[in-house]
Amino acid sequence: MRSVTTDGSGARDDREAHDDRDGAPYSPEASGDATTDGEFGRPGPNVPTAVEFDGVTKRYGETAAVDSVDLAVREGEFFTVVGPSGCGKTTMLRLVAGFEAPTDGRVRFGGSDVSGVPPEARDVGVVFQNYALFPHLTVGENVGYGLRFSAPPGGVSREERIDALLELVDLPGTSGRDPDSLSGGQRQRVAIARALAPGPDVLLLDEPMSALDARLRERLRLQVRSIQRSLGITTVYVTHDQEEALSVSDRVAVMRDGSVVQVAPPRTVYRRPASRFVAEFVGDNNVFEGVVAARGTVSAAESEGGETVNDDGDEQRVVPVAVHDTTLAIGFGGGSPERADDEGAATATDAHGTGWSSTPRAGDRVVFCVRPQHLQVDRAQNRLRADVEGAEFLGETTRVHLTWSGQQLVLSAEEPPAGAVTVGFDPRDAHVVEHTATDGGADTS
Ligand code: ADP
Ligand code: MG
Repeated sequence: MRSVTTDGSGARDDREAHDDRDGAPYSPEASGDATTDGEFGRPGPNVPTAVEFDGVTKRYGETAAVDSVDLAVREGEFFTVVGPSGCGKTTMLRLVAGFEAPTDGRVRFGGSDVSGVPPEARDVGVVFQNYALFPHLTVGENVGYGLRFSAPPGGVSREERIDALLELVDLPGTSGRDPDSLSGGQRQRVAIARALAPGPDVLLLDEPMSALDARLRERLRLQVRSIQRSLGITTVYVTHDQEEALSVSDRVAVMRDGSVVQVAPPRTVYRRPASRFVAEFVGDNNVFEGVVAARGTVSAAESEGGETVNDDGDEQRVVPVAVHDTTLAIGFGGGSPERADDEGAATATDAHGTGWSSTPRAGDRVVFCVRPQHLQVDRAQNRLRADVEGAEFLGETTRVHLTWSGQQLVLSAEEPPAGAVTVGFDPRDAHVVEHTATDGGADTS
């Protein structure tokens, strides 16, 4: 059984109930727990902060690898930092681990500044991109290497600790084996066991799957999630793979050029991206640029023959927007990130001045997006006559590439259409990522 606790005290045993050896998605039976957010059982806003970045900047010469970052990782949270290569993810992790010191700002653990604290005294376990197991040591000795600075927690012997950890990472009985005899995924699990050996407060993983093939990656990410759940250990996970980020995390921080541009649960990041960058980086998207076509708003009733437009039970305005030569009706206002289910998104929105809460007026510039699965063939609303350029068969679905008014669109369909096709979308499925008021615009409508 997975009975290893990070501190040996058993204090986190409540989370054992969520363990699942097969790594099946976590099911939140324990939604009565005041420290979680109900539906998904993730650590909620009431949970104390484990790791905090307070205005952290890390410069290498002219490059700000990390640029004025504020964030708070909650205790027990699986927190993922995702972004394209070179955006500063590894630097973030090195700042948490203590391998780098901030040029500016503070890193805090449980509220205390850890500036002067060396890595080995920070109670963090680190797993690097390339599994760095010692080939001349056995699996057990590699795990035991994690105990070079400290005795095993919980008063157990070294051997007991090693065996328990190998059990935890689903490699029981491999202690005497050569790392070379293991698969890539198994070696990464040994590296995780080694990082966990001293019972750290925080587990840091830097693209631990990047050397593995797709199938192993999917399996390992479920195993990592399961291990994290069973220990309830605060985890900061770095990846450039947005699908991986969405699938394992309690919350995701999206980075771009050293800045954090959105912090929110996976569903929010996907459904309510805080900016065009996030909309295009996380999953496929269709981005439209347009201009609000008429002063004022069209009521839901007018635009849809009496059907009320709701977004999670809220009335939402439908606004006509001219895109190329077509006027499209889009939902506006009800789906603002400010109203989304976590606090981080609103901050990112404000920082970018996208102004969802403002009233759209004629002439305002708007950028909105519609997911491929929300573009539907022969849908009555927002009809776009498009040409089929090609299709990629992906197994469960087919990604169809279209051109409409000189712009590329992507659609997911079971049966790919050929030639020309008319697609449409529900105004509610349009999500505004930028809204720029026209210069000197007069009153509100
Ligand atoms: P990521 O992990 O997201 O790919 P990194 O944190 O490794 O990004 O790097 C962010 C930026 O900082 C990059 O422009 C990179 O070239 C630069 N950088 C990272 N480490 C160093 C270093 N030790 N010296 C100089 N520049 C660095
Ligand atoms: Mg990196």
